[in-house]
Amino acid sequence: MSEHAAKLKKVRIFVTDVDGVLTDGRFILDYAGKELKMFHVHDGAAAKLAASVGFQTVLVSGRRSEVVERRAKELGIRQVYQEADDKWKVVQEFMHKERIGADTICYIGDDLADLPVLRRVGFSVAVGNAVPEVKKAVDYVTERCGGDGAFREVVELVFKAQGRWKEIVERYTT
Ligand SMILES: [Mg+2]
Repeated sequence: MSEHAAKLKKVRIFVTDVDGVLTDGRFILDYAGKELKMFHVHDGAAAKLAASVGFQTVLVSGRRSEVVERRAKELGIRQVYQEADDKWKVVQEFMHKERIGADTICYIGDDLADLPVLRRVGFSVAVGNAVPEVKKAVDYVTERCGGDGAFREVVELVFKAQGRWKEIVERYTT
């Protein structure tokens, strides 16, 4: 078994950055300070598929935005950490609370602030448009860019490696 395959098999939780991973990194700020972001429907569906086989999705954002709460609620994502200045500290607290090891976590990021987490989790992923330092540090770089189905690509990668994807697709084809 390759090193990647072994790492992928242990994943049970998807932990992802928000801006630049679930979005393309851009947001609209209106005159009243309200924020608008664009999410991809395939990423949302992936979070729901993950939940349907008992996998949690956790959001960790360095910023705070009401639309992130709104999107998480819509997808049934209960673990949302915003204004996380130190993302590794937040992930450590989450692991402690859930009594899980870093080897069960697949983390997806795009920028330098994600590096402390990416260097320590079981399987690390950079989106296609991540900064070069992040792309260099990870196990896998997605073909898709942030906000364009990168999260979906990761969920599929993990489930295919674990032999779960076929069974998920069969729900819709049989
Ligand atoms: Mg980011």
